[in-house]
Amino acid sequence: MVDFSLSEDQKEFQKLARDFAQKEVAPAAAHYDETAEYPHDIIKKAWEAGLMNNHVPEEFGGNGLHTLDGCIIGEEISAACTGIGTAMEANMLAECPVLVAGTHDQKKDFLGRMIDAPLLAAYCVTEPDAGSDVQGIRTTAKKVGDEYIINGSKMWITNASVANWFFVLAYTDKEAGVRGMSAFLVEANSPGITVGKKEMNMGQRCSDTRGITFENVKVPAKNLLGAEGQGFKIAMAAFDLSRPIVAAAAVGLARGAMEQAIQYAGARRTFGKPIAAHQAVSFMIADMAKDIEAARLLVWHSAWLIDQGQRNTKHAAMAKCFAADTAMRVATDAVQIFGGNGYSKEYPVEKLMRDAKIFQIYEGTSQIQRVIIAKEIFDRNR
Ligand SMILES: Cc1cc2nc3c(=O)[nH]c(=O)nc-3n(C[C@H](O)[C@H](O)[C@H](O)COP(=O)(O)OP(=O)(O)OC[C@H]3O[C@@H](n4cnc5c(N)ncnc54)[C@H](O)[C@@H]3O)c2cc1C
Repeated sequence: MVDFSLSEDQKEFQKLARDFAQKEVAPAAAHYDETAEYPHDIIKKAWEAGLMNNHVPEEFGGNGLHTLDGCIIGEEISAACTGIGTAMEANMLAECPVLVAGTHDQKKDFLGRMIDAPLLAAYCVTEPDAGSDVQGIRTTAKKVGDEYIINGSKMWITNASVANWFFVLAYTDKEAGVRGMSAFLVEANSPGITVGKKEMNMGQRCSDTRGITFENVKVPAKNLLGAEGQGFKIAMAAFDLSRPIVAAAAVGLARGAMEQAIQYAGARRTFGKPIAAHQAVSFMIADMAKDIEAARLLVWHSAWLIDQGQRNTKHAAMAKCFAADTAMRVATDAVQIFGGNGYSKEYPVEKLMRDAKIFQIYEGTSQIQRVIIAKEIFDRNR
């Protein structure tokens, strides 16, 4: 039997997230878009409200929520603002590798501290010359005694300047290709780390993205995640947990854009009737509604699979790809429905169109999601 109803607990934190989004996030969205300031105050309030780091297991002080629960929360926050939503969710991406491969002590230290204080973390894989092609990274980690020495440069790291610790992917054995990559938990205040200037991005502007340079950064050997050579696997496995939640945020953005479009289409009149009464406009909204529904179902299914302990790589890629493409299409059509007003900063939808674009780029581009889906179909079923 298939049951799409939410549990009482899920309804409760959906309401908590929705109320928080309406009270704290939505009113601040335009300000943070305009100024591109990091939303410290909202992050602190979200942490106090118990809306961050939710998947940290109860034994380390967290709520131990499942991926599907995180999707429900993520959709609500992102329906109000995905810039603030991404600032909140970037922690989750850094924490996922620890959940996947951390020892008890690593979880207690790096996940437990996120519950004790409103701290942030960052996932550092991308480099100036290697984004989609993770194998192309150049960062190295050399073992010297009880330490690893990390050298290299990361790029486009969300939360870079506000993070307390970094998940870092580096080569311990370049000759071994992907099997020569290892993963490390690195304290952000380690000597030798330099965080670059904030990137002034098109959308999600209050989210903090920067380059980071590692110059002879010493990391204790106990901060190696998993074994040497397992870094690539760990970094990719983290996406199976995080992609449904990122996809849920894209659904939230699309929902927010559709709500704006419905409201405007009912109020704006041309040729003696509301524009919603023109079939060309109402069909755009009908397409939004059906695609959002389909995207949410893909998101929930991909989250449910991993929550059941089943492999969800293909479904997480499908959810991320479909939800990202839906968010972009819906936001673009919302601008269309607003006509000239849609193009103006006086109205809310141009921000949504700018914010939507990044969903097709970060956490693996929409092209890379299709590469993964095709690989799963052809390689796994062979
Ligand atoms: C705002 C923002 C936040 C980010 N946050 C983080 C973060 O926190 N941590 C982190 O590690 N990274 C982060 N990233 C990096 C992001 O994951 C990469 O930008 C993304 O993976 C694409 O890599 P690239 O920019 O190098 O593009 P490229 O890999 O150079 O790709 C360029 C184009 O070529 C296409 N392409 C490449 N290879 C293929 C292929 N095999 N088949 C088909 N098409 C292909 C891509 O889809 C894309 O359209 C962030 C990026 C941005 C912009």
